[in-house]
Amino acid sequence: MSDTVKYLLEEQQLPRFWYNINADLPTPLDPVLHPGTQQPITPDELGVIFPRAVIEQEVSTEREIEIPEPVRDILRQWRPSPLYRARRLEQALKTPAKIFYKYEGVSPAGSHKANTAIAQAFYNKAEGVKRITTETGAGQWGSSLALAGSFFGLEILVYMVKVSFNQKPYRRAFMETFGAQCIASPSDTTESGRAILAEHPDSTGSLGIAISEAVELAAQRDDTKYALGSVLNHVLLHQTVIGLEAQKQMEMADAYPDMVIGCTGGGSNFAGIAFPYLGDQLRGGREVECIAVEPLACPTLTKGLFAYDFGDTAHLTPLCKMYTLGSTFVPPGFHAGGLRYHGMAPQISHLAKLGYIQPRAYNQLECFQAGIQFAKSEGIIPAPEATHAVRAAIHEAEKCRESGQAKTILFNLSGHGNFDMQAYTDYLGDKLKDLEYAENEVAMALSGLPSIG
Ligand SMILES: *Cc1c(COP(=O)(O)O)cnc(C)c1O
Repeated sequence: MSDTVKYLLEEQQLPRFWYNINADLPTPLDPVLHPGTQQPITPDELGVIFPRAVIEQEVSTEREIEIPEPVRDILRQWRPSPLYRARRLEQALKTPAKIFYKYEGVSPAGSHKANTAIAQAFYNKAEGVKRITTETGAGQWGSSLALAGSFFGLEILVYMVKVSFNQKPYRRAFMETFGAQCIASPSDTTESGRAILAEHPDSTGSLGIAISEAVELAAQRDDTKYALGSVLNHVLLHQTVIGLEAQKQMEMADAYPDMVIGCTGGGSNFAGIAFPYLGDQLRGGREVECIAVEPLACPTLTKGLFAYDFGDTAHLTPLCKMYTLGSTFVPPGFHAGGLRYHGMAPQISHLAKLGYIQPRAYNQLECFQAGIQFAKSEGIIPAPEATHAVRAAIHEAEKCRESGQAKTILFNLSGHGNFDMQAYTDYLGDKLKDLEYAENEVAMALSGLPSIG
C-alpha cells in the first residue's frame, strides 16, 4: 500500500472545457418562466440583468464549453486544486473505506466560489459592464466576486444577509480590501429592502431578500448587471472544473468512487464534483451514488416541494422549477450561512426527482462535531457548510466499518473555516443548539407558491 496522501496535477492539466450536464439529461429541464407573464423567458428579457455569454451558457446543450484563456490564466493561480486521501481520518474511524476529498479552500477567497466569480466577471467585462451587484450569505460569494472584480476592474456592490454581516466582520473587511462595497440586507437603499423593513424592522435578512435588493439595482441601470453565486446552470457549469480534475486525480490514485458527496446550499459545489461522474453514468458508464447533504434547519431537497418558484423574496427573479421551501421562508440563523437558501438548483432538483441524486439532511451540532474530528485528523478546519459533507462521509465510512465493505468515498471540501472561528467558538463553548425549521412557516411559504399553467 502506498502512503501517498496528496494527488496533484500539473498546471497544464487544468481543464480546457467545462462539462455541461444539459447534454446528457435523460429528460430536458422545464423552461424558466418570466415572473410577470409566466411564459418561457427570452434571452432579451434575461439580458436586463445578465451578460449575453452567460445567458447562452444557461440554455446551452453542448456537452463541452470552452473555458476562455484569460479565465484559465487566473484559475491557474490556485488550480488544479489538490485531492487528498484522508488516511489519518480512515485510521481514526477504523474503517476499511477509502476516503478521498477534493480541497477547494486553496482559492484566495477560501472556497470554490471563486471558480465561477472569475468566469462571470470576465464575461461582464468583455461586454462593457461597469458594475456588478450581488447578494452574499456567509460572505464567501461576496468575497469571491470582490476578488474577481478587482482583477477585472469592475465595481462590486454586495448585499450581505444581516445576520452574517453582524456575525462576520472579517468577511466584510475582506470584500472592502478588494474595493467592493458591502451593505447589510435588508437595507433602506432599495424598494424591496424598505418594504421588508417596514413590515419586519428587526429582520435578520435572508438570501431571498438580498437577491431582491441586488436584482432591483441591476435592472435600473444599463451599465450594471447582476451575478448569482449558485443555483443557475451556468454557475454549476463553471464549477465542473472540480469534478473534471478529481476524475484525473482519482485515476492517479487508481480509484473510482462508489459515492460522491457534497453539501448543498444552492447546489453548485456538489454539482461541481458530482456532475462529471454523473455524466459518465448517464452515458452508460459506471454507477456512482451521489449524495447531496443539507442542513435539517433548511431541508430544501428532503422536505421541500418540486414546483415553480421565485428565486427571491420580492418576486423580481424569473420562475424556476426546483425543490423549494417557498421564497418567503426565512430559515433560522444557523452558522452554515451558505446553506440558508429556500431553493435548489433546477439541474440538481431535476436529477433528484429522477432518482439520480440522494438527498440527506443533518443537524448542525453533529456537523460541527464531524468538522472537528476531520480537523484533528487532516489539519484543515472545514467551513461550517463543508462540515455537512464531512458528516456524511464519516457516516458512510462508519457504515463500512459495520458491514466490512471497503467502499471508496469521494467528497468535496468546499472551503476552509478560517473566517468562521466564531462559529467554532460557539460550538466549543456549548452555545450552539440544533435549530428546527418551523414547519408552519414552511407550510405558509409553500402555500404562497405561484400557480402555474
Ligand atoms: C456558498 C458555499 C456553499 C454552498 O453553496 P453551493 O452553491 O451549494 O455550493 C458550500 N460551501 C461553501 C464553503 C460555500 O462558500
